[in-house]
Amino acid sequence: MVVNEAEWDRVKTRLKQEFGETAFKSWVKPIIPTTMRDGEVELAVPTRFMRDWITTHYGERIRALWSGENPSVRRITVKVGSGNEMKATTTTERVISEKPALRSMDPKAEAIARAPVRTGVPTPGAELSAPLDARYTFENFVVGKPNEFAYAAAKRVAESDQVSFNPLFLYGGVGLGKTHLMHAIAWEIRQRSPHRKVVYLSAEKFMYSFVRALRNQDTVSFKENFRSVDVLMIDDVQFISGKDATQEEFFHTFNALVDQGRQLVLSADKSPSNLEEIGDRLRSRLASGLVADLHPTTFELRLGILDAKAEQLGTQVPPKVKEFLAHKISSNVRELEGALTRLVAHVQLVGGQITLETAQDLLQDLLRAHDRRLSMEEIQKRVAEHFKIRISDMSSARRARAVARPRQVAMYLSKQLTSRSLPEIGRAFGGRDHTTVMHAVRKIEELTKADSSFAEDVELLTRMLES
Ligand code: ADP
Ligand code: MG
Repeated sequence: MVVNEAEWDRVKTRLKQEFGETAFKSWVKPIIPTTMRDGEVELAVPTRFMRDWITTHYGERIRALWSGENPSVRRITVKVGSGNEMKATTTTERVISEKPALRSMDPKAEAIARAPVRTGVPTPGAELSAPLDARYTFENFVVGKPNEFAYAAAKRVAESDQVSFNPLFLYGGVGLGKTHLMHAIAWEIRQRSPHRKVVYLSAEKFMYSFVRALRNQDTVSFKENFRSVDVLMIDDVQFISGKDATQEEFFHTFNALVDQGRQLVLSADKSPSNLEEIGDRLRSRLASGLVADLHPTTFELRLGILDAKAEQLGTQVPPKVKEFLAHKISSNVRELEGALTRLVAHVQLVGGQITLETAQDLLQDLLRAHDRRLSMEEIQKRVAEHFKIRISDMSSARRARAVARPRQVAMYLSKQLTSRSLPEIGRAFGGRDHTTVMHAVRKIEELTKADSSFAEDVELLTRMLES
């Protein structure tokens, strides 16, 4: 059966609105719908790369939009071809149907769906565990100041045969590498000691399995399953909040495992003490091991990640472009990676060079969201408020510790959070020399290492200024 062109036109219009002109031209325009049969629409695209890209990035959206136009459409198949041949071969097609693994708007599901399957030793616990992303290894994790502690703790847990910190609780904002570190621990343990049963699960999946067991009146084997694992990792435990019975079960499973000397690794977007909806007992139990925080990334770390990523993609990216991205996309490593991938893919497909102009043009949508330039005035104002000093003291000559320290903090934050040079920062702080600024930056770095409550202050200010 032929495809209804009017439906496709309406789908295309929506895609253009949602993804923008540039993405539309690169990805949607070349698509040729060929046939529609038994609720399945077949799309032809010119290259394998496009097939994979469209499948993961646009497939689910195309499917959803098309079903909206015509409810009989349930599946989309993308194949390589000119659109003239009618039959797809199994080696070249990719099917998008309504199943969770390919709901490609969720980057995590997408990453998992795309990950190559590792073969070799049979994996104990595999039937309980969610799949691991092959790219999320320790080697692929770029270490910098903001994550070195969490990294070291994760490494320790992965490398020691005995239980080291129990539980290891990793927390930090979205896209800072919690899931990456957990997968890395799992890979490492599976490689070092294949006999140990490692189970990695999202908190949602854990709850889902539990609720299903309840419904099937099979909670005994559910518990047995979990209680026989050596290493249990549960990602995003903030999602356990609230659900009473599940929390209770989680608590018991947790205690049983800890008592038997099994290793637990948990992650959340907040520290245990800030997980408001979790009961007190569970909360204090969560905090009873080692709690390691992934801090917001610094400019240096973002540059490092871009370097590593560019190398993986086998592309040269001009330093200017990397600096531009590291400045502009500061909150979330996933978005940073996404931006780079988009640039590289565009250049590979359409040709040309990666330049500052192409970056600005292709990433308009992303950049607009992040383009709230933080000024040094803003930093000075917030820091002055925080330490209860006058804003004029940011540029005054007073040297008393009570004003000098906050001033140094503001200089440090100006260096970390803006793209200003040392001399520019010096000028904004009452015409000080760039060596004074450099000294301030070092001083604050030393102090944050030595004094954890001071480090917390700086952290808090950073988060506030970045939000
Ligand atoms: P979270 O679980 O904290 O939300 P993820 O672990 O899913 O974040 O990380 C988001 C993306 O960023 C992943 O693709 C991950 O590989 C990448 N990423 C985060 N931090 C780093 C890092 N330090 N080095 C390399 N990649 C990183
Ligand atoms: Mg995660």
